[in-house]
Amino acid sequence: MNKFGTRSEVQPVTHIDEAAVKDLLAEFGSPVFVLSEKQLRRNYQYAVRAFRTRYPRVQFAWSYKTNYLNAVCRIFHQEGSWAEVVSGMEYDKALLNGVPGNRIIFNGPHKTREELRRAAENDSLIHLDHFDELYALLELAAELPRRPRVAVRVNMDTGVYPQWDRFGFTYENGQAWNAIQRIVASGRLALVGLHCHIGTFMLSTKAYAVAAGKLCDLALNCRNTLNTPIEYLDLGGGFPSTNSLKGAYLPGTDTAPSVDEFAEAITSTIQSCGFRPDELPLLILETGRALVDDAGYLLGTVVANKRLADGRRATILDFGVNLLFTSYWYDHKISPAGDFSHHTEETVLYGPLCMNIDVVRESVSLPLLNPGDQLVVHKVGAYNMTQWQQFIHLRPNIVLLDAQSRPHLVRQAETLEYLQQLEQVPAHLQAVNLP
Ligand SMILES: *Cc1c(COP(=O)(O)O)cnc(C)c1O
Repeated sequence: MNKFGTRSEVQPVTHIDEAAVKDLLAEFGSPVFVLSEKQLRRNYQYAVRAFRTRYPRVQFAWSYKTNYLNAVCRIFHQEGSWAEVVSGMEYDKALLNGVPGNRIIFNGPHKTREELRRAAENDSLIHLDHFDELYALLELAAELPRRPRVAVRVNMDTGVYPQWDRFGFTYENGQAWNAIQRIVASGRLALVGLHCHIGTFMLSTKAYAVAAGKLCDLALNCRNTLNTPIEYLDLGGGFPSTNSLKGAYLPGTDTAPSVDEFAEAITSTIQSCGFRPDELPLLILETGRALVDDAGYLLGTVVANKRLADGRRATILDFGVNLLFTSYWYDHKISPAGDFSHHTEETVLYGPLCMNIDVVRESVSLPLLNPGDQLVVHKVGAYNMTQWQQFIHLRPNIVLLDAQSRPHLVRQAETLEYLQQLEQVPAHLQAVNLP
């Protein structure tokens, strides 16, 4: 509040990079996802610089599940990123994107025997999640010409709860060390790395210092007691984007530590834990969200306004949680794309789904929008274009703006014909003879 009343923080957003929102909507339809290549490359280069200025050997591996559009993956691969995948489908996508097998990190709790075999034959880095997977790979390894390269995924208490102990082997109870000993003793697998991914949207840099310290402890033990030096430490992903978490008091731009701060916590720990300078392991990062979230926008259109039974204003949009899975966690920033009145009102934003859960914002102060008005949703690049759902509405176009802000269609809107191809109607259901 100020002496003029509530001052609106709302600013119109008419352009993404140099491309006009109204032109993008006219050409590609509403709603449409838009990605900025400039921002993707900027984010990547900033993150790499944050680590490389502090540590001699750094490698990023793009987390496919965060956004596995081929265009996005290829931008990161062009920048030098390896691929980090968590399923056989993603593994194949990485190969199709031209990533050599030995530059693919294969994570995840479910890898089939066939997938393990293929990954081993391609010399990929197989990150073991549990003992049953280790036994399966040991069995396979007996038939393979060379030793599969593996890392152990470790979960640990980093002071952030709940602990992600469902993935990998636990540090504190000795399970991780036990897995390491078995791998080395088998002689059939090459133990090359140690891995953790302690959570996502982590706001604590200290948690990464703790995690790095525990991985270092295991790595030094490997060298000292098993005569097995570890080639790389993989600290996973988890850095936050600058989105605002639901219910957070301060906006995400004020609370998220920078990549520099995470880099400082991780690299200072590794450098001071007892490696000789010439034996410092390669440091791998699997950063997802922090590299892609703010490079993605969703453009859409107001469908209608109405009053709810309690008098609140409600606005219906042509996109909902079907396209914005992350609206369950974030209060996404939403801007009008054109002129608007300066009268604002608390509004609930609904999507077009015929479902009660389809709420884009529970309460947001917005100018009065009219049917047909266009909107920009910010920071939607992570986990929406992979977790979106095909539910009563078809998935829309995705457009990439190149460095000159020229739009390229990188995934076309789905059509009913495309969906129908997957269905089959049994012979006895072919005829429908309604009177
Ligand atoms: C999802 C995932 C990532 C990426 O996580 P962000 O929080 O998006 O950075 C990295 N590594 C693994 C193993 C993952 O499952």
